[in-house]
Amino acid sequence: METQENHSDVILIGAGIMSATLGTFLKKLEPSWKIKIFERMDKVTAESSEAWNNAGTGHSAFCELNYTTEEDDGSINIDKAIKIAESFEVSKEFWSSLTEEGIIEDPLKMIRRIPHMSFVWGDKNTEFLRKRYEAMRQHHLFSDMQFSDDYEHIKSWIPLIMEGRDASQPLAATRMDIGTDVNFGSLSRCMFDYLKNSEGVELKLHHEVEDIKRLKDGNWELEIKDLDSGKEQKYTANFVFIGAGGGSLPLLEKADVPEGRGYGGFPISGKWLVCNKQELIDKHYAKVYGKASVGSPPMSVPHLDTRMIDGKKALLFGPYAGFSTKFLKHGSYLDLPSSIKWNNIWPLISAGVHNIPLTKYLIEQVTQSPEDRLEALQEYLPEAQLEDWELMDAGQRVQVIKKDEEEGGVLEFGTEVVYTQDGSLATLLGASPGASTSVSIMLGLLKKCFPGLEASAKWKKELSELIPSYGKSLAKDADLLYKTRERTSKVLGLKGEEVNVLA
Ligand SMILES: Cc1cc2nc3c(=O)[nH]c(=O)nc-3n(C[C@H](O)[C@H](O)[C@H](O)COP(=O)(O)OP(=O)(O)OC[C@H]3O[C@@H](n4cnc5c(N)ncnc54)[C@H](O)[C@@H]3O)c2cc1C
Repeated sequence: METQENHSDVILIGAGIMSATLGTFLKKLEPSWKIKIFERMDKVTAESSEAWNNAGTGHSAFCELNYTTEEDDGSINIDKAIKIAESFEVSKEFWSSLTEEGIIEDPLKMIRRIPHMSFVWGDKNTEFLRKRYEAMRQHHLFSDMQFSDDYEHIKSWIPLIMEGRDASQPLAATRMDIGTDVNFGSLSRCMFDYLKNSEGVELKLHHEVEDIKRLKDGNWELEIKDLDSGKEQKYTANFVFIGAGGGSLPLLEKADVPEGRGYGGFPISGKWLVCNKQELIDKHYAKVYGKASVGSPPMSVPHLDTRMIDGKKALLFGPYAGFSTKFLKHGSYLDLPSSIKWNNIWPLISAGVHNIPLTKYLIEQVTQSPEDRLEALQEYLPEAQLEDWELMDAGQRVQVIKKDEEEGGVLEFGTEVVYTQDGSLATLLGASPGASTSVSIMLGLLKKCFPGLEASAKWKKELSELIPSYGKSLAKDADLLYKTRERTSKVLGLKGEEVNVLA
């Protein structure tokens, strides 16, 4: 039965980085609002936002080659890279303000400066990287980028990758010293700690949202099961955010809103090889992204990453793709079949027909033997030995499939927020560039769902305090970018840290 106690201004579904970020914004902007957060697991950030479940790359487009495309005339389009780099600067601004307020106590537990590098071989790829570098370094967001095609120079950056490598092979690398590794799990926990200790916020763990419906008065009613007691209860709210990661699509379908029809999801799981040999871990200090092979999806770009997780240095290679019908790592094998409805069956089939190379890629990945995986690793570490690496499951991604007039259905690799027309329900689908851009995604959501308040002097003032560049463009204003980077590096402790520390 619904009671006044069961009504809140806001319900956030899922305790990952997206709900953490939105909840923190809303608490700062409207301290008197009642917020309830429901999470099906018995702890926060148990899915994609947990450190080992994602790559922890602070996506800034420094090293990810799929964010820059080669046009037909041979020029390099860096528009997407600019957008992503700017978004990450905005994220750092928000996290810096949370650090100054003490919400993040020790920023080094959640963000580290680790150089971002791209590394390619072969004439065509080295030429592409040189052109990309020439295009990017003209822009102030990337003006610190370094390029080399000299074997010895590259070796000084990434000695482990160069061990046993043919010196006559054409090679090229770019490097941005200000790249970062982020522990999104640790960051989200700081925000949830702040939220659960704030007045008017309730975080209910082990509570699964089973159904959502709109009431006649425009509010939303959620049916929620307490997984400890098995008891079901109804909760209502004026505004609902479905931030359930892979679980978002099924909930959007349950809400049955016109804006949500025609969406489908395609799960792709990830796996890492995690290095267990300290000597190798100590010899590498960078996030090194390569080029995805033809036909493979953007998130399959191989990378060899130094990570800092719980104060310990780690070395990961991957991701290798896997296929499972689960939408969440801790989900059900029925997730995919249950998500197929009359309104998305055609987009799903069409997307499948138009993505034969992806299907081929997935079949190849799923049927890989340990030796096949080693072969992929040896392209980056020619002297790698199987016994020094262990296979580990990463998180589950659900790629968005969208209805399309011409193609019937298209597979998207980005993140998309689906809003009801009145802005009272917002659902986040997809997973890339994901956590790194969570702050910009939520700023977009605030504008769309609370347009009157977002335009108010009160919200503008608070938002400018949290994000000093709010309302201005870091991509257009070089001086503002330098000033902003100066502040965030200082506050987050990213300044002065030894770069290329090999041990
Ligand atoms: C392999 C991999 C690598 C990645 N690498 C990067 C990277 O390097 N950099 C980057 O920025 N991003 C990366 N991402 C993306 C990033 O992890 C996600 O964008 C981000 O974590 C999504 O956060 P979220 O809050 O939306 O979802 P999640 O963290 O998945 O949280 C959703 C929560 O909702 C809960 N939930 C689900 N259904 C229900 C329900 N019915 N009721 C209640 N609770 C529910 C889940 O249990 C979960 O805790 C990667 C993702 C993967 C899978």
